[in-house]
Amino acid sequence: MPFSETAVIRSRRVVLPDGERPADVLIRDGRIEQIAAHGSLLAGDQHLTDLGDTVLLPGLVDTHVHVNEPGRTEWEGFATATRAAAAGGVTTVIDMPLNSIPPTTTVAGLEAKRKTADGQAWVDLGFWGGAVPGNVPDLEPLHRAGVFGFKSFLAPSGVDEFPHVEQEDLEAALAEQARLGALAIIHAEDPAVLAAAPQQPGVHYRDFLASRPAGAETAAVARLLDAARRTGARVHILHVSSAAVLPLLRQAREDGVRVTAETCPHYLTLAAEEVPDGDTAFKCCPPIRDEANRDALWAALADGEFIAIVSDHSPSTPDLKLLPEFGGSGDFAQAWGGIASLQLGLPAIWTEARRRGHTLSDVVRWMAGGPAELAGLTGTKGAVAVGHDADLVAFDPDADFAVHAAELHHRNPVTPYAGRTLTGVVRTTWLRGRVVDVTAEPFGRQITRPAARPATRSEESQ
Ligand SMILES: [Zn+2]
Repeated sequence: MPFSETAVIRSRRVVLPDGERPADVLIRDGRIEQIAAHGSLLAGDQHLTDLGDTVLLPGLVDTHVHVNEPGRTEWEGFATATRAAAAGGVTTVIDMPLNSIPPTTTVAGLEAKRKTADGQAWVDLGFWGGAVPGNVPDLEPLHRAGVFGFKSFLAPSGVDEFPHVEQEDLEAALAEQARLGALAIIHAEDPAVLAAAPQQPGVHYRDFLASRPAGAETAAVARLLDAARRTGARVHILHVSSAAVLPLLRQAREDGVRVTAETCPHYLTLAAEEVPDGDTAFKCCPPIRDEANRDALWAALADGEFIAIVSDHSPSTPDLKLLPEFGGSGDFAQAWGGIASLQLGLPAIWTEARRRGHTLSDVVRWMAGGPAELAGLTGTKGAVAVGHDADLVAFDPDADFAVHAAELHHRNPVTPYAGRTLTGVVRTTWLRGRVVDVTAEPFGRQITRPAARPATRSEESQ
């Protein structure tokens, strides 16, 4: 479709912030200008796309993606990751500060990423910074350069160039972030608890699970919340896998700590009981836990305890995953810990959410509106609403498809969803009003953290 300045997209099922209804969506210059009654906007010389009963969703926002370029582009790169995102209905990606070399812990590292990503983004792309031991002086320049916040690890990250923070480093970083008004995003597993857990290598998933116990998450979250209380920093717990941390978060919120949390499709749709021996495509840290825990995560989602479901897409090459089908040992202890799912998050979650009685509005809140809020993008991303970017997805919620890893746009053909049948097919993705064609030139933009909202007159006068 050629780019037209104004266009109308019509559907009998548009997922709006206040629910689903038939509507016409008028797009002008890349933004949603009007939402009108279904069939009410005359097409005239405007381009009309009538989706019929196919659902119109806002493009999803995935704030947790490891692109790995430059430095480990063979694991995943900007072109492959953002094509996968577009094909999966994700129109905004915020890239994690590690697994690329250099990591995004300095402005030079950020500039290296921006330069490399230039001309390779099929969706809009932003960057997290990293807070590591010794880089407190880098946080303000990175913040000014537009990173969305700062990631820290409380346990070893898996790559040498992104060390974890001890308590003293953590508190120094949080104090600086509180001063800047930045968001601290934290990988919360406790290294002492991990070190004390039984370490039994091999192909049995239960041994790997025992090596990363839920207690490592609760100990780390407790320690983080203490530091957040002392420093006043705003903190976000990444990839919560254990439901045992939820009471700690509730208590902290009651105490006035500014804390949010996310979980991921693999914790909500997969379970330890079903991981085959040696299938290291399922390995991630923290790990996929048992079915009872999965049910507890869904209950927490329904209660609004998670602000977002995001992919934590963190692939590597098949040889580093040690997959038996690629000649590897299938040893869970040695395999790279990360799950590839960027293109599959929406259908994976929809398949399970529908089975549990949830609606597409719920899915949109968890995967578009919530992560947009987390990243400070409410107002431009994550909703079909007037004034927002016309980032949209035509979604068939009743169509099934079988996952063939080699057919995904991810660089490497490894995903724990391989062989599964999922429900929900992305038919078309629009970015700022234009159809994204992953075989044509990309037109994604690099985005930065929106400037803090200026005080209104009435606030200034108080
Ligand atoms: Zn991650």
